[in-house]
Amino acid sequence: MAKKAMNDKMACSFCGRNQTKVGRLIQGNSNTFICNECVETCHMLIKKEEDQTTAKPLFSKILTPAQIKEQLDAYIIGQETAKKTLAVAVYNHYKRFIAKTDTDDIELEKSNVLLIGPTGSGKTVLARTLARILDVPFAIADATTVTEAGYVGEDVENILLALLRNADFNPQRAQHGIIYIDEIDKISRKSPNSSITRDVSGEGVQQALLKILEGVIANVPPQGGRKHPEQQYIQLDTRDILFICGGTFTGIEEIIRRRIGQKNIGFDAKKNERLESNESLSSVLSKVEEEDIIEYGLIVEFLGRLPIVASLMPLTQEDLVKIMTEPKNALVKQYQKFFDMEKSKLEFSSESLVEISKKAIEKETGARALRSIFEGFMLDAMYNLPSVKENATFLVTPEVVRGEAPLVYTQKYKQSA
Ligand code: ADP
Repeated sequence: MAKKAMNDKMACSFCGRNQTKVGRLIQGNSNTFICNECVETCHMLIKKEEDQTTAKPLFSKILTPAQIKEQLDAYIIGQETAKKTLAVAVYNHYKRFIAKTDTDDIELEKSNVLLIGPTGSGKTVLARTLARILDVPFAIADATTVTEAGYVGEDVENILLALLRNADFNPQRAQHGIIYIDEIDKISRKSPNSSITRDVSGEGVQQALLKILEGVIANVPPQGGRKHPEQQYIQLDTRDILFICGGTFTGIEEIIRRRIGQKNIGFDAKKNERLESNESLSSVLSKVEEEDIIEYGLIVEFLGRLPIVASLMPLTQEDLVKIMTEPKNALVKQYQKFFDMEKSKLEFSSESLVEISKKAIEKETGARALRSIFEGFMLDAMYNLPSVKENATFLVTPEVVRGEAPLVYTQKYKQSA
């Protein structure tokens, strides 16, 4: 009884609620207590202050275009013009923030970028790598899932939510992040490929995206989904977010060729002339002008918000071999690391790399095909590797890649049965 009376008396020294009203009460010295809810509130306050004082500067240092390009080179093969264009665009974009604090009132235009290039040529990896180099939050969105408000599909605000999530819900950081919007060509006004399930015109979606590209204070629903009147929103200013839009713009080369009056070289090219035809495709794509993109179906106002346009070239067989072997995270290096960890070795004959690149070219999905090709011929070896004794050397040959021979190994010691 006395104990109950005592319990009833015990109350949180911060909020005053007694034991029965709170989940837990923790005793400090003498008769001071704190409840679990006040602990949480204090924790949040301290964290918020810490975030403000220890917050990383938004840009620790501004890299020069040459430094940005050099870092892009470590991950992205070829695409020299696109890398250079992006490096300059990003440099100017971040310089723009600094200029904002200057007194002179020249308004510098935002450098949102449009990347045009075939599937698997590196558009997404370029945007992602840029965000990593700059150490800013990054999010990917798919334009085909976005709809005008009021239709079935995603609101544009959900694109911003993805960025906010990747910035740990810190709007300050999110506002300086990068958003990559893929499949932008599929929302063209007259797209023959527009999804049949979509119930809005591409133009309507462009209008919806236009707003966030231009810069608005958006109300982002923190739980995602459609907006509800009773939901609390996080406000996000999109003026300083860098938007990179990407699309394959399949067939745009025909529009470019028509404009420059060039014949359709490579259209009838036989398989063994594919590389030559790729080369001519590259040179045509590099001549893309705004008017071609408008003819393709992007509305003028939308394109106006993407002042920088860069083309990516179809990857050649040599590029694919380099992609497999050279970047810091190249597939060959990644697989070799797995074998290293099991104290074995994985080697590739140069012919096998050519064979893989040929297979990838046949799939017509650029470097995207490489991973599944590797997984195909590496599966058995990866399965057996942990049971193989140390010091085994596996050699990948063209026959292994074609599935005509297993990936065998030689070993210093005899394998136990
Ligand atoms: P896209 O967005 O153009 O369709 P991605 O950037 O998604 O293509 O590329 C698909 C895969 O191929 C990624 O894993 C990426 O690492 C690799 N890749 C594509 N192009 C390149 C390139 N030029 N250099 C290095 N890797 C590349």
